[in-house]
Amino acid sequence: MLKIEGKGLSQGAVIGKMRFYMAPVYEIDEGDYDDSEAEIARFEAAREAVKEHLMMLAEAAEAASDKEGATVFNSHVDLLDDHGLIMRVEDFIREMKKSAEFGVKVGFENVADDIRSLPDPYISQRSDDILELEREILEELIGLSKGIRFGNDPYILGAYDLTAADVARLDRRHVIAIVMKEGNMTTHASILAKGLGIPCVIRAETLSAACDGKEVIVDGTEGFVFVDPDEETVKKYDDVMRKDREFADSLIRLKGKMTVTKDGREVRLYANISNPYDVETVLENDATGIGLFRSDFLFLKDREYPSEEEQFLAYRKVVEEMKPRSVIIRTVDIGSDKSVPYLQLPKEENPAIGMRAIRISLTRVDFFKVQLRALLRASAYGNLRIIFPMITSVAELRECKDILAECELELVKEGVRMGSYKIGVMIETPASVFIVDQLAEEVDFFSVGTNDLTQFTLALDRENPALDKFYDPHHPAVIEEIRMTIEAGHRHGCLVGICGELAGDTSMTETFMRMGVDELSVNPQFVLPLRQKVRELDLSK
Ligand code: PEP
Ligand code: MG
Repeated sequence: MLKIEGKGLSQGAVIGKMRFYMAPVYEIDEGDYDDSEAEIARFEAAREAVKEHLMMLAEAAEAASDKEGATVFNSHVDLLDDHGLIMRVEDFIREMKKSAEFGVKVGFENVADDIRSLPDPYISQRSDDILELEREILEELIGLSKGIRFGNDPYILGAYDLTAADVARLDRRHVIAIVMKEGNMTTHASILAKGLGIPCVIRAETLSAACDGKEVIVDGTEGFVFVDPDEETVKKYDDVMRKDREFADSLIRLKGKMTVTKDGREVRLYANISNPYDVETVLENDATGIGLFRSDFLFLKDREYPSEEEQFLAYRKVVEEMKPRSVIIRTVDIGSDKSVPYLQLPKEENPAIGMRAIRISLTRVDFFKVQLRALLRASAYGNLRIIFPMITSVAELRECKDILAECELELVKEGVRMGSYKIGVMIETPASVFIVDQLAEEVDFFSVGTNDLTQFTLALDRENPALDKFYDPHHPAVIEEIRMTIEAGHRHGCLVGICGELAGDTSMTETFMRMGVDELSVNPQFVLPLRQKVRELDLSK
């Protein structure tokens, strides 16, 4: 038996078979093929598919008067038609008798290297475009965009690391636990994994691909993984799992009960979701609303920007099924660790403080309007609250509101039915805290994103595992920012909630309740334990 120590990301234990996932790019089969023409035909088919997709994106950008976007997509189409590049790949496949994948990898990387060393910066920068296209063709050849699949039997997913997009695309019916060798507590991949409601362990440092196919116990509460567990350990965990079930059963009695302290202070207890299908778990756990629907994951799932209709159906499903409970939907927060190749965002040195969230929305207004129109249409079906992420100035917020008003006018002219809705701001940058009184005059509510607020207040990349010991959401500066937000919000009649991971930290519940927080929004699995915690408090003491 091998015991691996990591960090527990979400509670509970499970026993099952591990399937170890490695990003297909690293699994490229070099091949040794006599039938080179068949491999060249595969390359051609993949190249055509990617080209067609890019042409479609270029057309969509042109239709939305996004000249810059259309130019980027068209230039990528031209690159894919470059005779020299095509010949490099095909000659290599033919002469070396290698697979299409290997031909693409070698051909594209050689051309990228050649270009990178050229003196003209405009041309040398195109090496990044070539590498991006290499990845897209490899994804097409390997079928990466179809997501991680290991058949239909339940399995524990092991991986060196997973991206947010990997987790977003997981087939949740079959994955019963997740173990990663790397990862960090508040990365989006981790937040999403937590939302699946299955035991997860990250930073399992000695985990390796050799665990594939082995029987494994994952203990998300303690952060342990046992590979090939002995009889005694299995017995012990049978007991642990029985007790976990008993604890979960004991919480059932809290369903339908108020989230209120002994001395009568009530708080709205909401849940965070990232997928319309999570509503079922939200209702099962009796949350009284949705405090954060991270709409971003709709954008990560596919290879292209989701249409207005697709988004509308997703938002409508959530507000309609939650009705009359309130649903806060956040406009898209992509960029940073959530990469979406179809937006062709430039590579950045510091993506967490780069082109992400509202900055993308205000730069690509055509895309932003698609989302806002979909949200406004959904407002007819339930109790919708729209929230804008990463706001740092009143001007940004006003710009968002102007674009929203423009969309509303369009829809009125088109005769589309809309309902009432509320507008809020994520308080997740120190700048927003310092102008919180001004922001409060513009909106109906705030929600504090403690994950980013901690990252930006402490000047500390939440994605970087090496900084884990410095990442302290309990830091007095962060707590003071939360207090300032609640007080300012209340001065102006705004509701103030907390939706970052800290909202579910029961060691902070009393502090937040004493500060007067109106809403706490947590993973659906934390709803009942948090209700229990609130009901044990007596703030009169
Ligand atoms: C946050 O920053 O706390 C938050 C809720 O948003 P996200 O984790 O999606 O950045
Ligand atoms: Mg955030």
